[in-house]
Amino acid sequence: MTRIYDDPTSFADDALAGFADAFSRHVARVPGGVVRATVTRPGKVALVVGGGSGHYPAFCGLVGPGIADGAVVGNVFASPSSAQVCSVARSAEVGAGVLLAAGNYTGDVMNFTMAQGQLRSEGIDVRTVFVTDDVASAPAIEIGLRRGIAGNFVVFKIAGAAAEAGYGLDEVERVARLANDRTRTLGVAFAGCTLPGQDHPMFVVPDHKMGVGLGIHGEPGVSEDDMARASELAALLVHGVLGELAEEGDRVAAVLNGLGATKSEELFVLWHTISSLLAEAGLTVVEPEIGELVTSLDMSGCSLSVIALDEELEQLWRAPAETPAYHKAGIVANEHREELRRKTQRSEVTTSSRAPTGSPASQVAARTVLAGLSAMSAGIARAEEELGRLDAIAGDGDHGRGMARGVGAALTAARRVVDQGGGARSLLEAAGDAWSLEAGGTSGILWGAALRAAGDHLQDDATQLGAHDVVDAVRAGLSMLRQLGKADVGDKTMLDALVPFSDALGSQVDAGSSLARAWRTATAVAEEAAEATAAMRPRVGRARPLAERSVGSPDPGAVSLALCLRAVSDALGDKE
Ligand code: ADP
Ligand code: MG
Repeated sequence: MTRIYDDPTSFADDALAGFADAFSRHVARVPGGVVRATVTRPGKVALVVGGGSGHYPAFCGLVGPGIADGAVVGNVFASPSSAQVCSVARSAEVGAGVLLAAGNYTGDVMNFTMAQGQLRSEGIDVRTVFVTDDVASAPAIEIGLRRGIAGNFVVFKIAGAAAEAGYGLDEVERVARLANDRTRTLGVAFAGCTLPGQDHPMFVVPDHKMGVGLGIHGEPGVSEDDMARASELAALLVHGVLGELAEEGDRVAAVLNGLGATKSEELFVLWHTISSLLAEAGLTVVEPEIGELVTSLDMSGCSLSVIALDEELEQLWRAPAETPAYHKAGIVANEHREELRRKTQRSEVTTSSRAPTGSPASQVAARTVLAGLSAMSAGIARAEEELGRLDAIAGDGDHGRGMARGVGAALTAARRVVDQGGGARSLLEAAGDAWSLEAGGTSGILWGAALRAAGDHLQDDATQLGAHDVVDAVRAGLSMLRQLGKADVGDKTMLDALVPFSDALGSQVDAGSSLARAWRTATAVAEEAAEATAAMRPRVGRARPLAERSVGSPDPGAVSLALCLRAVSDALGDKE
């Protein structure tokens, strides 16, 4: 259980506030996360790491000399938004470019990649590395699909040491990729974790069993095994990891990582056998780390990461570091940064600029969209728990909460635009940005970007807006979703409901239906399509590694989309 919280929905923010206060000597808060509170040598490459909350010490506990310059902090188990990534990166960079590093999850990949594009357009040299160490999450030939788990720490440590040593951005990127290529991790779970405010864990491991190949967002293991003695567990982990390790010499680094509720003493018992098995395999272990480095709330379990070292990687692995959660003797930094306030002013994450006044037609459209968002928000609130349950079957259980936060923020932003007399385009832009910023997660960025794209067809100065413009707007949203998510029909995502909806809406309007009638008919098509996703296997997103488990249940994103379309349909009523 996660027992300590005030408002469960602000758990991540509240934890960050306490953390930043406790470690004010090390870190300073900026919009979107934290950066070092101490002065960094100008011309040093900045390493900015990030991801959701719930993984402490990853990510904010690793900010400091020797490792990261900044950490982007998302909601519990949800990717931070691209605006948050940009904000932290701008605050952290000191003129030599930025390496962004995160685990390989759809939401993080989209948000960090978008941020990279934005920062480059501002003239900052940015590279991005996504960590793929989890051997259980995809076969070796599909290494690009693998998740990042405790190997995150290994890659951050090595990249951070390189940046500290004065490497240029090309070189920091090179060693980060090399470290990722040479790191393999396998984990086991003994019991699931519980989201703040919930009274039951996200998954249950039967007595005397363990889940092998877990994720760090509450995803259960990919297979189940009998609970073993420590020595047998050690053998399982060592064989799982060494089976794949590049044979690059006989020196390795290792991390035996606790997932949140596993005692150090238990890890030491396990390490005792792991260490002799690695020696038997002819390997010399260099400065192993045993403890909590990448956790999953209060999950009971552990993982073993091994990295094949060469001379350079070994030197970087051994280099000193001084962060809130991780120390290796050698560096002293205590001169505080003065210029930070100035830099963060540039990075306010929320947009509060005034919307331009819309034409009468566009204002009418804006009010209609607002009514739709309001109905969506009420519908999502009723379904929040059920959407979370659906997402927990093969994903991380946050879909209901993410949708509720996203649509709530979109509604607030939309109201502001309507109150200012803004048009439909301004409204959709503001609503989309607010949605991505607040929801985090894969569906959050996709919904946000789709709303924004849809706005391009409902201009603020339009003299007339009709059903055909709405069809174009829906198509633009769909095409943005495709471009960003790179999913196809049949991959078991919200696309499987949106594509048939968009087609049906288009043909109904072409045949002369009013918007309200066409929308109602198309909604029924989307609802049926969403239900039909139950038969599919997810081929993208967080649910992919546990695809089989998801068969028989519909895709949460498709279900929530159909629900939103129904809410809009009800809001449109019989209007023309
Ligand atoms: P996360 O997976 O980051 O936890 P959510 O749980 O909020 O995000 O959303 C999950 C939903 O997002 C899935 O059910 C699916 O419909 C949708 N989704 C995931 N990946 C993609 C993608 N690449 N393209 C389109 N939709 C996707
Ligand atoms: Mg999810």
